[in-house]
Amino acid sequence: MRISADKDRCIGAGHCVRAAPDLFDSGADGRVTVLRPEPDPARAGLVREVVGLCPNTAISLSGGPDEPSDESGGNLMTVKNDDVAGFYNGTDKFSTAGRIDALWGQNLHFGYWEDDSDDSPIEVATDRLTDLMISGLDPQPGQRVLDIGCGNGNPAMRLVRSRDVRVVGITISELQVEQGQARAAEAGLADRAEFRYADAMDIPFPDGSFDAAWALESMLHMPDRGQVLAETARVLRPGGRLAIADVVERGPVSPEGKVVMDHIRETYKIHSLGTVEEYREQLAAHGFVDVEIRDISDNVLRTGIKLADAVDASRDQFLEHASAAEVDTLTHFMRQAAVTPENGYLFITAKRR
Ligand code: SAH
Repeated sequence: MRISADKDRCIGAGHCVRAAPDLFDSGADGRVTVLRPEPDPARAGLVREVVGLCPNTAISLSGGPDEPSDESGGNLMTVKNDDVAGFYNGTDKFSTAGRIDALWGQNLHFGYWEDDSDDSPIEVATDRLTDLMISGLDPQPGQRVLDIGCGNGNPAMRLVRSRDVRVVGITISELQVEQGQARAAEAGLADRAEFRYADAMDIPFPDGSFDAAWALESMLHMPDRGQVLAETARVLRPGGRLAIADVVERGPVSPEGKVVMDHIRETYKIHSLGTVEEYREQLAAHGFVDVEIRDISDNVLRTGIKLADAVDASRDQFLEHASAAEVDTLTHFMRQAAVTPENGYLFITAKRR
C-alpha cells in the first residue's frame, strides 16, 4: 500500500508519525508517507486509521499486497465469528462493548432522537430504539419471539416486560449468554426469556417454531445476510413478523467517507455493511412480504458523539488497553461517524409469506 498525505493539513500535524513511527515518515517537504508496504491486515488497518485522522487531507491509497482483494469494492472485511465473540466477550482491545455498557445503559445499540431539539440522554434514546422495534414487530400475547444477536439480553427483557410474550435470544458470545440468563433470573422472568449460544447462520430450532423474530443491530456481523434471512424465514411460521435495525452504507461513497466506513467496519468487527437495495432484494428472495424500510439515519447518528463523550469520560479505562493515540483515533472516528452521510441506518419490518 502507498499512502501519502499532506502533513500540514492534518489535524495535529504529524500525529500519524507519532502514532506509528515505524509505519510513517514525515519528509522535509512536509508530506507524510508510508515507509513500506504493510502486509499485515491489522497493521494496514492502523495505517488507514491514522491517515484518516486527517479527513481534509488528500489521501491516496494505491495497490499493494495488503489491499482488500474481495469482490465487494472493499466493503467486505475478513472478520471471523471469533473476532465478533472477542469483541462482545470483552477480550478484544477496542471492545467498547465490553466496557461501555457500565456507562452506556446496557443496550449495545444506537440511540433514537425524535429531532434536533430532543436532548434525551443516551440510555433513554437507546431504549427508545428498542421500543421502535417492539412496536414494529407488534407481537401478540402468548407468542414466541426469536432475538437474533441478543447482546446482554437487555432489549429482550424490555420486550418481555412490555408484552406478554416469550423470547429466545441467541448470541455467539458466551459471556452474553450468561449475562442474559442472569438478567432474566434476577427479574424472575427466566420462564419467559431464555438465552442460548447459537449462530444465526445455522439456527438450531425447528421449522415454523417462532411467531416473530428481530435482529437489533446484529446483521452487520453476519457473514451472509441472505443465509440468516433464509434461516429466519425457515424458523418463522407463515405470516410471522420480522423487524431489523441495522447500520448500512449509503452510496455514493466518497474517498473521505470510505476512510470512515472502513474504520467502522474494522473497529466494530463488522463483516460487511448492507445497503437498502441489498435488503430489498434479499428480503424478497427469502419470501418476506409487506416490506417497509425507513431510513432513520438522522434520528440515530448522534450516537457517535455520545459514544465518544462516554469514552472520553472513562479514558483511563481505555488507556489500560490502548495507547493514547489509538484512543484519540477511536473517539475521532466516533465523532466523524456522526457526520458521515455514507453511514446510514435502516429500520425494517416485514412478514414471512
Ligand atoms: N441486539 C443487542 C446486541 C447488538 S450487538 C442490542 O441491541 O443490545 C450484536 C449482537 O449480535 C451480539 O450479541 C453478537 O454476539 C451477535 N452476533 C454477531 N454475530 C452473530 C451470529 N453469527 N449469530 C448470532 N449472533 C451473532
